[in-house]
Amino acid sequence: MGTDGVVIAGGGLAAQRCAETLRRAGYEGRIRVLCAEPRAPYDRPPLSKEMLGASPDESAVGFRGQDFYEGRAIELVLDTRATALDPVAQRLRTSAGEELGYEQLVIATGSAPRTLPAFAPYENVSTLRTLEDARRLRELLHAHARLLIVGAGFIGQEVAAAARAAGAPVTVVELEPAPLHGLLGAEIGGWFARLHQEEGVELLLGRTIATIHGGRRVEAVTLDDGRRIEADHVLLGVGVSPDVAWLEGSGLDASGAVPVDERGRTALENVYAAGDAAAFFDPFLGRHAYSGHWESAGRQGAAVAHAIADAPAAPPALSSFWSDQYGTRIQYLGHARLADRVEVDGDPGARDFVALYSRDGMPVAALVVGRPKALPELRERLAHLTERTTA
Ligand code: FAD
Repeated sequence: MGTDGVVIAGGGLAAQRCAETLRRAGYEGRIRVLCAEPRAPYDRPPLSKEMLGASPDESAVGFRGQDFYEGRAIELVLDTRATALDPVAQRLRTSAGEELGYEQLVIATGSAPRTLPAFAPYENVSTLRTLEDARRLRELLHAHARLLIVGAGFIGQEVAAAARAAGAPVTVVELEPAPLHGLLGAEIGGWFARLHQEEGVELLLGRTIATIHGGRRVEAVTLDDGRRIEADHVLLGVGVSPDVAWLEGSGLDASGAVPVDERGRTALENVYAAGDAAAFFDPFLGRHAYSGHWESAGRQGAAVAHAIADAPAAPPALSSFWSDQYGTRIQYLGHARLADRVEVDGDPGARDFVALYSRDGMPVAALVVGRPKALPELRERLAHLTERTTA
């Protein structure tokens, strides 16, 4: 074994799982984790949930303490970005001006929130990805700033819920006819719309922003139907893009998530990718699929570690995610986009139901609201999604 070992570019969940799984699998070489942020890897889901509460315990977001990394000889290189990759020389350039050699490289640089160019000049516009973003947003919500959220995806919805809990007025503007319409369809999207309306969110669907008013700060916007909305702060929740521009010139396509096989291997020798920066091959769909969710980021980080340590691969898992809104847990499994039918069992009005999506009578996805105990059985019913390959 050489001395360069594994270099992991990126310091999020995928990087964390990869590093710790490498040690657990008996890998004894050097492990360096390059983190663009000035702190050790931490968890992001709480940033749009607990961390927006009145006085959260910020230490709870860290995955591990300093002694964990020291005890396992995992070197964290903080405040340092990977800036370029030379796969022939097996070297990585960093923002500190250094070149790091590697035996195996793991691309785990995650994703970055999309922005909207029209809002770029204004001071009171933000996105939510880091602990610093969450701190700033928390202060605003608890000062009852009038919040305008652009986009009713999961981040926009969770921030709207946190804002209402803090007593802040919230308007959400969404282009689609219902939140998550493209993913979950009109019926369940309509349920999400009613959820927020019942909690006092002003939800404006099928609308876009036509004009922004203000000087250095956004003071108001006018929508495409002429309606004017005053705001103290604008949060953009318009999705994320894989953070892979630094791979330009490496031989990998730097315009989107890095395609990898089921063990996380890219087209380049000794280069792997995991998490929000990667698109793993999905044997059921028969193609590379982007996840952008927590469970798969962790699972993929571990899968790469197993491949590097020459350990057996874990069995394939179902695609899944969760969201917490107004004290209700919402869980999702599978591929609802494949469905031709959705059946609801339970009481949507009481925030207690399962929506089962099927195609040709075969279940392909489930949305579970307020019923975490239903999950194990649904996992079994959907297990075929991890076994089959579409023709
Ligand atoms: P990231 O967590 O994005 O970590 C990547 C790290 O790499 C970052 O620290 C970044 O600064 C760093 N980096 C970027 N570029 C470079 C570079 N060139 N060099 C070095 N480092 C670099 N998922 C769910 O399933 N359920 C949820 O409820 C949920 N809630 C969420 C709430 C919020 C506010 C956010 C932001 C995400 C949420 N997610 C949720 C998504 C989930 O957190 C992500 O899928 C997961 O964090 C992806 O992990 P990752 O390690 O791939 O990337």
